[in-house]
Amino acid sequence: MSIEAKLLHLQAIHNLLAPYRYLYCVDLEATCDEVGESESPRPLAVVADQMETIEIGLVVIDLETLEIVDEFQRFVRPLINPTLTDFCLKLTSIEQADVDGARTCQEVGEELRMFSVRYPNAAWASWGDYDARQLERDAGFTGCPSMLEGLPHFNARKWHAGLYDNQPKGLKQTVESMGLNWKGTYHRGIDDARNVASIVKEMLG
Ligand code: AMP
Ligand code: MG
Repeated sequence: MSIEAKLLHLQAIHNLLAPYRYLYCVDLEATCDEVGESESPRPLAVVADQMETIEIGLVVIDLETLEIVDEFQRFVRPLINPTLTDFCLKLTSIEQADVDGARTCQEVGEELRMFSVRYPNAAWASWGDYDARQLERDAGFTGCPSMLEGLPHFNARKWHAGLYDNQPKGLKQTVESMGLNWKGTYHRGIDDARNVASIVKEMLG
């Protein structure tokens, strides 16, 4: 890809973000299951369309300064599958006690709305489209509005693909490929969100 094409792509991203003062970089963890190679075949304890959010991590970037100005993190108590699978515990390093003591998706949504009053005129971004689909799924289960209802969503992975023409990679690999330092524990919502924010700052800066 030519330098000109990259600059045009970067300009297009800046244009998309121009109406907004804040960008929320968001990462969700959710209930999940997978049958390991050493296991005998069994039905999944959590099927894809029943995944529920168990953690939301959100990092606020002020688009005027490109500085991180705040964070929001909550565990969320799943209602359909309240017991986390061994696969999920291992993948996310979230503990059963973290979700047992947490508020529901609806309650956390209320807390997030109160938090976001301080950062109005915002859009949100995540690595891929999974998080946006998961918020819709949660909203479908609870019958409540999505936790980020009304805020436009951007796929930071698509932005990255347009600026660095390489194979699509996972979040951690991408951070490392950009020469940035990975921070925290992979597959923890708040840490993933911090790393998405690092990528976004690097792309926009
Ligand atoms: P991530 O943001 O990459 O940590 O993933 C978000 C959620 O997607 C996780 O909390 C899991 O519910 C699900 N997930 C991620 N990777 C896998 C995987 N390899 N197998 C099954 N589910 C996964
Ligand atoms: Mg994650």
